[in-house]
Amino acid sequence: MNDPNRLLDASGALPQAQPPWAARDSLRITRVRAVVTAPEGAPLIVVRVDTSDDGLYGLGCATFTQRYAAVAAAVDEHVGPLAVGRHPADIEDITRLVHYSSYWRNGPVLNNALSGLDQALWDIAAKRAGMPVYELLGGRSRAAVEVYSHAAGPTIDDTLDQAEKLIEEGYRNVRLQVGGPGLGTYGAPGAPGGYPRSPHPDGWAVEQYLRAAPRLFAAARERLGDAVNLMHDVHSRLTPKQAVVLARALEPYRLSFLEDVIAPELYDRLPEVREASPVPIAVGEQLGSVPDAVRLVRDGGVDLLRLHTSSVGGLTPTRKIVALCELLGVRTAFHSPGDISPVGVAANLAVDISTPAFGYQESHTYNDATHEVFPGTPVVREGHLYPSDAPGWGIELDESAAAKFPPVKFLHERWSAQVRRPDGGLEAP
Ligand code: MG
Repeated sequence: MNDPNRLLDASGALPQAQPPWAARDSLRITRVRAVVTAPEGAPLIVVRVDTSDDGLYGLGCATFTQRYAAVAAAVDEHVGPLAVGRHPADIEDITRLVHYSSYWRNGPVLNNALSGLDQALWDIAAKRAGMPVYELLGGRSRAAVEVYSHAAGPTIDDTLDQAEKLIEEGYRNVRLQVGGPGLGTYGAPGAPGGYPRSPHPDGWAVEQYLRAAPRLFAAARERLGDAVNLMHDVHSRLTPKQAVVLARALEPYRLSFLEDVIAPELYDRLPEVREASPVPIAVGEQLGSVPDAVRLVRDGGVDLLRLHTSSVGGLTPTRKIVALCELLGVRTAFHSPGDISPVGVAANLAVDISTPAFGYQESHTYNDATHEVFPGTPVVREGHLYPSDAPGWGIELDESAAAKFPPVKFLHERWSAQVRRPDGGLEAP
């Protein structure tokens, strides 16, 4: 008999977390914990869920690089105990219970923690079925997942040299970024001391950027021709009006999309930006909640939705949002650079390969240390990613290798807290 005055019963589970139905068999979740590792420098958070069936476990991505310690604590102290003692098949109920039980719930950290648990439960479900996760989602809609990669350099020529290399490797989709005066340019090396007479000589100036970006794409079409699909990431730097000005200036160069044109604080202005933009708008990597994502899709804020599946709560909400995208004619372009773990990449791929709403998938080439920590890490082949056919995600976690790469606090924050104008004012990263 559970003591009502005690929060946890002898198994370590919350008694009220048990549902009023009998589980089909005796399988139970026995342990939930966060593992933090930084094989490439960026702290990655993976949730491991163990079960009473020896050898049956699941992995999920909970990565939030800038607040990893908070997410790990949320997993270990709050989210995990709600799931221990439950049957791992009840994914909808367990994740809803975790979501509701925090009462204040629509933000990152808790949704990252929830995502790690959710994805681990899908890994377990698919392993039990002996299938890759994408087969549980309805199976394949395509042979492979076409990705876009990043070409960047201090000058236009350097950027286009890199783009040519990627095209030779088989990429049909390339995002272009070029440096400028100062050190604040997103995604490309800048030139120190670009504004020598200003209080902050390494600053980033929006007017200069708005003039430089169209020059990059004019040169790109001239040199690369029309066979390649081109993208550009604004990285949330512009006001709504500036976003429209840039989109119109880029119209002649036929971009496939313009990424993250305005900051998440301004997302309510996206429908008017998209309405006025001749270039498809791809936004959403900074979404931390399901209702925010639904609003963007429902209200016409995006042509392509860029979810970071590890921050909206995992595969369970993602597959619902993607179904809405499909029904409303919105495509996907999921976020996936080095600040998502290979487990999160596998979750992206399971959705990408199965949904008719698929548009593009961002790609990242992980270093050797990441492959050592995460055996099974997907590798781009000729511009495409292929989900593993192994049961579950097909990704393992070597914890002794993971321990060799401890995270360093505030290392990853540096890039996201350093952008200032030449006059010294702080800008969005
Ligand atoms: Mg981006």
